[in-house]
Amino acid sequence: MSRYADFHRRSLQDRDRFWAEQAELIEWRQQPQTICDHSRPPFARWFVGGTTNLCHNAVDRHLRDRPDQPALIYVSTETGQERTYSFRELHREVQRTAAALKDMGVVKGDRVLIYMPMIAEAAFAMLACARIGAIHSVVFGGFASVSLASRIEDATPKVVISADAGSRGGKVVAYKPLLDEAIRLSTHKPKAVLLVDRGLAPMEKVAGRDLDWAATLRRHDGAHVDCEWLQSTDISYTIYTSGTTGQPKGVQRDVGGYAVALAASMKHIFLGEPGETYFSTSDIGWVVGHSYIVYGPLLAGMATIMYEGLPIRPDAGIWWSLVEKYKVTAMFSAPTAVRVLKKQDPAFLKKYDLSTLKALFLAGEPLDEPTARWISEGLGVPIIDNYWQTESGWPILALANGVERQRSKFGSPGLPMYGYDLKLVHESTGEELTRPNEKGVVVIEGPTPPGFMQTVWGDDARYVNTYWKTIPGRMLYSTFDWGIRDEDGYYFILGRTDDVINVAGHRLGTREIEESISSHPNVAEVAVVGVADQLKGQVAMAFVVARDASGLIEERGRLKLEGEIMKVVDEQLGAVARPARVRFVSLLPKTRSGKLLRRAIQAVCEGRNPGDLTTIEDPAALQQIRDLMSD
Ligand code: AMP
Repeated sequence: MSRYADFHRRSLQDRDRFWAEQAELIEWRQQPQTICDHSRPPFARWFVGGTTNLCHNAVDRHLRDRPDQPALIYVSTETGQERTYSFRELHREVQRTAAALKDMGVVKGDRVLIYMPMIAEAAFAMLACARIGAIHSVVFGGFASVSLASRIEDATPKVVISADAGSRGGKVVAYKPLLDEAIRLSTHKPKAVLLVDRGLAPMEKVAGRDLDWAATLRRHDGAHVDCEWLQSTDISYTIYTSGTTGQPKGVQRDVGGYAVALAASMKHIFLGEPGETYFSTSDIGWVVGHSYIVYGPLLAGMATIMYEGLPIRPDAGIWWSLVEKYKVTAMFSAPTAVRVLKKQDPAFLKKYDLSTLKALFLAGEPLDEPTARWISEGLGVPIIDNYWQTESGWPILALANGVERQRSKFGSPGLPMYGYDLKLVHESTGEELTRPNEKGVVVIEGPTPPGFMQTVWGDDARYVNTYWKTIPGRMLYSTFDWGIRDEDGYYFILGRTDDVINVAGHRLGTREIEESISSHPNVAEVAVVGVADQLKGQVAMAFVVARDASGLIEERGRLKLEGEIMKVVDEQLGAVARPARVRFVSLLPKTRSGKLLRRAIQAVCEGRNPGDLTTIEDPAALQQIRDLMSD
């Protein structure tokens, strides 16, 4: 048995001992009494009885050995700012922020919603929450008011932290008006809103509610705020993710299990050593940003780069120049970003000294072979595709090269990570597929490992029903991804089994987009599907039945309505969710019982065979789409 195979086997068969060893990677105030409590499946409780704190482990702990070493390196090519915070300076900033939050009445268990661009203050805010035991809920800055409102409604934050604006490609995106509108739409009203004024966009402050970050924090200069010792099973944060319903789910995570999972992943998967530099190009609004911009690298005593800007501005060498300048050892990005770079001059890959870089990790969407080959040859470092979800918090499939160097295979995110009892099952019978290269649903047999979501925020039943009850006859966690496993045990991910789509590595629910489009007064019905795209992996396509189709006979009328619909989505959900095209039809393909045949629509859009259509009500509906697509 290979060293890794044995490591993986131990993680499942000698689970408690294995994870007790991993738990030594972090500092505990009180040692855990029970490693894994799985007495109430599918809920798994890790390191029960242990007390610890994420901020202590990410910041304070390093003051002993490396107070002056870089901790947070903030680089914005949007504003030209660049600043390094040592662990000591980060500690100071986090304490000021924590003091301000306490002063605003935030106590353990309160929610703080963070709606911020990629600025250092966002990381201070997250760490400050972790420090005092407040639950942070970071909402991606690219979301607009309706998306934000539903998250405010669900998280019921005492405080919201935001900023005047973000900036993308030199274009200022004002956040404050979107936030004000979201608070107006929500029945829950936060007590206070703390606003970083970057001087990018004018802000109108709401009296008695809005506070200025700089002025507020100045009052807490030099503050000393102790870490709150939290139960391992207390809640560290929630992060919203899209599913098949229009209502996003608050993925809820613990404290101790998450800290151990991240510390272990930094060692075994990401090859991170204290004193080195980690660069993840994601955004704090996504799970990768939580795990591998903020917490993971800092837990490992590494410096982490927080980058605001595009990968190709001022030119396509910007990321590699940062690798050279800050001696980056591990980098994490998404295939879409690499596909963007691939359109640029490949000479940029050779322009800088990348000798410190040990590997480039890519995740979030399928990594196609040409993209993998291009970047692997261009950089001359191993490319490690890894597969996971918001729900898991850290990789489910990857290569644990820190345990044993494993061969990678193009197109495969690798092997099940330690702690994951991963299986493939037949979609409708639930039978486990054991022969190589059989296609099935990727599932996890419980208990889920440390770091995995605890539940859906405020809704245990939704957690159980959504994730654990879809496989007939068995209580298994469904990833909602199709997969196959080859004769060497390597998995290949073949796309989602549900209506979730993945645009440039961003997960979007087609139902959310449909609901938004439906709010346009001239939309009678709509179907949104994900269609394969060369650059973004997938894009959303909307097919609309108009209430009043008289204006649509002319091209001009169609373009006008298309533009209006896109604007509705932009304003409600944000430009990330905007469909690439809106096409008009007189009816939508449905089953006789009225269910939308999204998969058939998607197949037709991609020029594939739509499969079994015996249940379709009217085949002419699909023909209309076929005709539109061949135009
Ligand atoms: P998110 O929760 O936004 O991280 O999206 C998770 C989903 O993205 C997964 O369920 C997969 O469908 C997809 N995904 C993530 N990483 C990969 C990967 N390396 N290869 C293929 N699909 C991936």
